[in-house]
Amino acid sequence: MDINLIYFLIFFFPITFCDCKKYYNYTLYRGIPVEAKDLEFFQNLTQVEHVNFWREPGRMFKPVDFVVDPEYKELFLKDANNLGLYITTIIEDVQKAFDTQSVKPYIRRNIESFDWNNYYRLKDIYEWLRDLANTYPAEMKVTTIGRSNENREILAVEITLKGCKMRSKVIVEGGIHAREWISPAFVTYFINEILHAPYSKDEEFKDIAMTYEWYFVPVLNPDGYEYSHTNDRMWRKNRNQLGSVDLNRNFDHAFGTTGVSFRMSSETFCGLSAFSEPESQAMASFVESKSHQLEYYFAFHSYGQYMIMPYANMKMHVENFDDVYKMCLEAKTKIAKRYNTAYTVGTAYDTVGYMTSGVSGCWVKANLRVPYVVTFELRDTGYHGFALPPGKIQPTCLETMDGVISLLKPQTKAYARLEGKYNYDSGAIFILDKIILVFNVLLFIIVRFD
Ligand SMILES: [Zn+2]
Repeated sequence: MDINLIYFLIFFFPITFCDCKKYYNYTLYRGIPVEAKDLEFFQNLTQVEHVNFWREPGRMFKPVDFVVDPEYKELFLKDANNLGLYITTIIEDVQKAFDTQSVKPYIRRNIESFDWNNYYRLKDIYEWLRDLANTYPAEMKVTTIGRSNENREILAVEITLKGCKMRSKVIVEGGIHAREWISPAFVTYFINEILHAPYSKDEEFKDIAMTYEWYFVPVLNPDGYEYSHTNDRMWRKNRNQLGSVDLNRNFDHAFGTTGVSFRMSSETFCGLSAFSEPESQAMASFVESKSHQLEYYFAFHSYGQYMIMPYANMKMHVENFDDVYKMCLEAKTKIAKRYNTAYTVGTAYDTVGYMTSGVSGCWVKANLRVPYVVTFELRDTGYHGFALPPGKIQPTCLETMDGVISLLKPQTKAYARLEGKYNYDSGAIFILDKIILVFNVLLFIIVRFD
């Protein structure tokens, strides 16, 4: 045996396969802040390293979900009790919940062996996509739009069905947050549905599939997604060795101003500048290259069952909010019809209860004047959270597709770019943004070098 290979096996095998963090006896709790002091308690908790937030604190009465490690549980419960906080246990042992999430290997050149009753590793998703493209070369193309920090490919899928009316474009983003496994699962389902639409008996769906040019990026954060399989199931950000970044805070829209952190260890670290990361850069260039007649941009996340509309950094409802809101309400009704799954519609502030910045969809809408931008937070509302069991994948896909079809119903009017220039980023707000940004960067430097 080659001596280099022996070294490789000795040194790398244990690192690659034995380093997976386990979450036995970690507990998922939910708290609901009903007084200012409660909110303060939860906000302080976000700084504690023994706690991992699945739902960050925002407004009063909005649920806050977080996982507490076994060593810290007793102290946490004592503090919460002393404050008179109302805390419920959602998942007693988070590892047991994660263990239900079966990951199946894909059998190469057998596209039927890919299903929506299991989760898949990145390599398997990519192989399935390439096999699909080989099976349907006239309709589907797989391209590499860039590479991640760890040099993994970021793949995009383009679908144009035969006889397509090419009215306008739809871009679908998935897997920006590593641990939200249902997101790539749904996007692969979406791809499969559109590709097979010509064989569908549903004439309305067929018509919608033929109306648009389709673009999908199922796993925008491939390093993070893999890491969530191999090392840490609760991983959210990308894998930048200098400090991993929350990619959905790294886009150049109101960058660094609200709902982000400049602490590198934070789950919402936005990076030191907008588009500092190869993954967000790749997505931005890709979307820019397809911005002509780009009508829809969908991003898929979990969890909470929300349809979130721009802009995440403000409380105001601006531009065509009312029109999109109406479309989302119709979609919400369609979703509920199948399994009674209840969605909530609004801005980030209206729904999850906090504002954020540097969000992909906001950048797309503001800069490219794309009229219909919706971010989905898929199932569930916290009973399983990120540990959504495989049996729920298919129902989630079916109902979400109902909602998406409703949103995509060909408008009677022709494609129209969003009117006017985005001007909420100018004047006073713009200057204020910059001041906040400079302040945050200074704070980061002080905290880091203290
Ligand atoms: Zn997310």
